[in-house]
Amino acid sequence: MSRTPEARAYDLDALRERVLGEGGGTVDDSIPQLAAADPGLCGLALALLDGTVRTSAQADVPFSVQSAVKPFLFALALLDTGGRALDLIGIEPTGESFDAIKLETGTGRPPNPMVNAGALLTAALVDGGDVEGRTARILRGLSAFAGQDLGVDEDVARSEHLLGDRNHALAHLMRAEGTLEVGADDAVAVYAAACAVRVDARALAVMGATLAGGGVNPVSGERVVPAGVARDVVSVMATCGVYDGSGRWMRSVGVPAKSSVSGGIVLSAPGVLGAAVVSPPLDEQGTSVRGRVACEALSADLDLHVFGVR
Ligand code: GLU
Repeated sequence: MSRTPEARAYDLDALRERVLGEGGGTVDDSIPQLAAADPGLCGLALALLDGTVRTSAQADVPFSVQSAVKPFLFALALLDTGGRALDLIGIEPTGESFDAIKLETGTGRPPNPMVNAGALLTAALVDGGDVEGRTARILRGLSAFAGQDLGVDEDVARSEHLLGDRNHALAHLMRAEGTLEVGADDAVAVYAAACAVRVDARALAVMGATLAGGGVNPVSGERVVPAGVARDVVSVMATCGVYDGSGRWMRSVGVPAKSSVSGGIVLSAPGVLGAAVVSPPLDEQGTSVRGRVACEALSADLDLHVFGVR
C-alpha cells in the first residue's frame, strides 16, 4: 500500500491546531537566543519522496537547527572519511542526556554520533582543513540536504562557542583519549557553527526526506550521499536520536528522528517521507512537547510506524 496519496492530502494546519493546545514543557535557556524563542511557535512540514512538500502555518519561521544537525553531520563524516567514522565513533544508545561527560569505556570513543561527544567528533572529521574550511563544507553539505542555501546565525554560533562549557570539556576529554585529532577549541567552534545553522520546518523536512529517500534529495534530484550512508544514519537515528527518550519514542512514534533543544524534530520514514516540527517548549529529555504529540499523530494517521504491520 502506498502512503504517498494520503500524505499528499494530509491537513497539516488541522494537526497544528490539534497540538497547539498542548501545554507544558520549558524553553531551553542554555544561550540567550534560545531563551528568547517564542513558546507559541509551532510549524510543521512534510516532504514526500515524489518531491511534494506540504507545510502548515509557521513552517517558514527560522530557528537554529541545534542537535537536529547531528544525523547530517554523521552523514557528511561518513562520506568524507570513506566510512572510517564508523570505526572512530560508537553506535550504541547511552540512555543518558545529550551532553553527558562520558566516552566508551576501553576505547575512549564517543558512544554515538547523536550525543554531543559524537557530534563534536563528526564535525571534526569532515573535509575542509581549518575551522572556516570545515564550517563551509558543512554548510554546503547541509544545503544539499535541504535543496536550498542555508546560513549560520553568527550570534547563536558565538554564544554556543562561548557558553558551551560541557562541549569544551568533552572536546578536551577526547583530546586526552587521543580520539579527537583537531584542537579542542576548533572542534567546539565548528560544532557550534553547525548547531547555529538557520533552518525552518520546510527545509528540515526536505533534509529528513533526503535520508528517507536513500540519500537523494527529492526536491532537487541531487544525490547527496550514497544509499548505504543514508541507511547507516537513519539506523542510528532510530536507536539514539532522542537521547534517553529513544526507546519511548520508538514505541510511540516508531519513526527514526532527531530532537533538538530549539524544539525542532526531524523525522525520516524510510522509503516514504521526511517531516519536521518546531515548537520550543521541551520535556525532560529535551524533546519538543508539541513536537512529540504531532509526530505521534502523524505516525498514526499516515501509518508510519516502522514496526507496525500493514
Ligand atoms: N547546541 C546544543 C548543545 O550542544 C545542542 C543540544 C541539543 O540540541 O540537544 O548544547
